[in-house]
Amino acid sequence: MKTINDFDFNNKKALVRVDFNVPLNSSFEVTDTTRILTAKPTILKILEDGGSCVLMSHLGRPKGKQNEFSLQHIVKQVEDSIGVAVTFVPDSIGDYAQQQVDNLQTGEVLLLENLRFYEQEQAGDIVFAEHLSKLGDIYVNDAFGTAHRAHASTTIIAQFFENRKCFGLLMAKEIDSIKKVMETGNKPITAILGGAKVSSKITIINHILDKIDHLIIGGGMTFTFIKAQGGQIGNSLVEDDKLDLALEILSKAKQNNVQVHLPIDAVVANTFSNDADTKIVNTNQIPKGWMGLDVGIETQKEFAKVVLNSKTILWNGPLGVFEMENFANGTIALGQAIAKATKLGAFSLVGGGDSVAAVKQFGFQNKVSYVSTGGGAMLESLEGKILPGVKAMLT
Ligand code: AMP
Repeated sequence: MKTINDFDFNNKKALVRVDFNVPLNSSFEVTDTTRILTAKPTILKILEDGGSCVLMSHLGRPKGKQNEFSLQHIVKQVEDSIGVAVTFVPDSIGDYAQQQVDNLQTGEVLLLENLRFYEQEQAGDIVFAEHLSKLGDIYVNDAFGTAHRAHASTTIIAQFFENRKCFGLLMAKEIDSIKKVMETGNKPITAILGGAKVSSKITIINHILDKIDHLIIGGGMTFTFIKAQGGQIGNSLVEDDKLDLALEILSKAKQNNVQVHLPIDAVVANTFSNDADTKIVNTNQIPKGWMGLDVGIETQKEFAKVVLNSKTILWNGPLGVFEMENFANGTIALGQAIAKATKLGAFSLVGGGDSVAAVKQFGFQNKVSYVSTGGGAMLESLEGKILPGVKAMLT
């Protein structure tokens, strides 16, 4: 795997695919700069080498050229975040873009217009990719968030840069952290899977069962497992068509010597609301009219014990309905345990959607080893897929 550290960018124009798909408010101001800041080290390394950068990204889901999705809106924010002047090019390909690139000097940065203004981008069009490829000497892919898409700028373009392509520092970190869990992780390895449904996590579970020592299950998924084993789950979330699957997972785990830890107690509520009446009951004895929305205190303690004994930890999905304050405690306690284990030397990776939101909301992002920036891309990696944007760089 070649990264930008394997290249000297002196006098080179780097064509860098970044993921600047940032949220904007109604005044077109960037409300979360994370994605810009995570690309910063890559951009600075290229400039410090004596190179220049042509940045390209998508923003949102425009239908053709729609001004509200123009990357022009974020130029100022990119300048402020990276600390370098940025020239906006109001097109992604074509004569004017080419001219701007030809005139680009060492230390300068261009930002091309939203790639998705061209339908060829998402179609993975090879001609469009070839046009883009003219805009740089070395192709750098640092857009992990879109690496699971075989788009022109993320995947197809790579074939035009034989021996002149590499991963940016963010991509390298993402790939490395998945490897640290899936291939080279120190044992015991614990995966914590929470969230709403078994059906959306089944491929991940199947893929990791021969790699891990402990599987902690939490969130709404819990109740499909509990019901499958004959427990009373009241009105809790359940996928009745996945009961057999839940039993299969448990038996496959046993065959693989994976210890499965299901919540033993639950915070139950009489309505799906933060103001609901609540009580703590055994997970397999939830009365009718009550639903489990968080793990109980005994479960928190049990899960913390497992986590603190682990050397490698993967966390995907909250343990409860953390968006409501009264059902966030289990997720917070788990975050605290992971933070503690990390401090004691464990490697911890948090990835995929809502667990990332939870980690940020409760301030754990700097207390775990790595928080992935890619929702779908991380989930697909955990499912064992080789992402098209990664594969294209290796051939
Ligand atoms: P996912 O996208 O599958 O990781 O699911 C995340 C969602 O699962 C969050 O919005 C949580 O509110 C929800 N969730 C977690 N625990 C429960 C539960 N016990 N019952 C219903 N939804 C839950």
